[in-house]
This record gives sequence, structure tokens and C-alpha cells, in this order.
Amino acid sequence: MTKLIFKNTYSPLSSEQIVAKEKANMKKKRFEHCVRVSETARKLAKLNGYDEEKAALAGFVHDYAKQVPVEEYRKVIKEQDFDPDLLNWNRAIWHGIVGIFFIERDLKIRDPEILTAVRRHTTGDTKMTTLDKIIFVADFIEPGRDFPGVEEARKVAYASLDEGVGYELQHTLEFLIENKNKVYPRTLEAYNVWGIK
Ligand code: GDP
Ligand code: FE
Ligand code: FE
Repeated sequence: MTKLIFKNTYSPLSSEQIVAKEKANMKKKRFEHCVRVSETARKLAKLNGYDEEKAALAGFVHDYAKQVPVEEYRKVIKEQDFDPDLLNWNRAIWHGIVGIFFIERDLKIRDPEILTAVRRHTTGDTKMTTLDKIIFVADFIEPGRDFPGVEEARKVAYASLDEGVGYELQHTLEFLIENKNKVYPRTLEAYNVWGIK
């Protein structure tokens, strides 16, 4: 198991309290994914000269709200003045964009860099900070992932974070189209920036 004691939690809560809240908010499998994303984010941060502690915390909380009930999401989108178009989407899209509401409320993390990285972790964005890229890519290549192309994704991402983002967006778009899924416009916008050589 990993070092889940974050030197700085960016919150009045202790690292133990954050770990406990996260554990209570999701199934074991999802929790273990979050631990691996945290470890992978730490590695990518080290390689790219970014604050390892901050990356590890952001990676750990990135899917905090993935299993919040759909009805709770719909209520929060309406009551907290989120873009009403979000009501046409689902938890795959909500857990980053709206998920930060629950992270702020429950984990009391208000650091804008961390929240932005969580907000962008599913779709990417036209503009991405180093932390955004680290979390986006770590989520895709963490050691538990097993899909055709994951080895190549790891190779590309460890050689260049930007190319890792591009590879992931291309793969995600291909996957969505293959499965006749709706493409969230921001995913496509991000692909047009990062996915094209
Ligand atoms: P996870 O939370 O660790 O499973 O990973 P992500 O947050 O990256 O992705 C969650 C899900 O959203 C995955 O199944 C993606 O394929 C899906 N996803 C990513 N972009 C889009 C999009 O533009 N539209 C739709 N419908 N799904 C998307
Ligand atoms: Fe996610
Ligand atoms: Fe994830």
C-alpha cells in the first residue's frame, strides 16, 4: 500500500480524515483505483518537476464523487446554478465538473488548482495546467487499467505529458464513437487542441 499521508491536505481536515471520508463515499474497487491514480500522479509529478504531494492528493480525490446518487447530482445542478445543459448528461460527465461541489463541501478542499484538475479530469480542456495534465493522464494509465493500447499510452505519457494527453483524447474519442456514445463538446474541443500533431 501507498503512502496515503499527505503532507498538506489543502483542507482543515487531516489526511486520515480525508482518506476515511473518501473510503466511506465509494466502493472498494473505486477506492483502490483512486489510490493507484494518486501513486501514478506522484510519479508523473516527479518526472515533470511538479509538487508531488499536491499531485498525489489531487489524484486521490479525483473520483471522490463518482458514486454520488444521480438524484443528488440533479438536485445540486439545479440548486447551485450549474449549466442546466448538464442535466442532459450523466455521472460520467458530472463527477468531475459537478463533483468538485462535493469535494469542497465534504473534504473542504478549496485549492483552485486541485479543483480545476478534478473538474477537467474526464473531458480534458483546451487549456490545461501541468496538474490538469498529470491527473488526466494518471487516471488513464494507472497500473490497474487494462485496455488495448494502454502500454503504448504509458510509454507515450512517461516520455511526454502533452503527448500523453493527446493520445488519451484520441483513444477516448475513438472509444466513444465506436460505442455510439454522445461526445461532450469539451472533449472534442480538447481533442482539437491536444490530439492533433
Ligand atoms: P473514471 O472515472 O476513472 O472511470 O475515468 P474518467 O473520469 O476519465 O471517465 C469516466 C467515463 O466518462 C469513461 O467511461 C469515459 O469513456 C467517459 N467519457 C469521457 N469523455 C466523454 C464524453 O465526451 N462523452 C461521454 N458520453 N462520456 C465520456
Ligand atoms: Fe473519473
Ligand atoms: Fe478515475
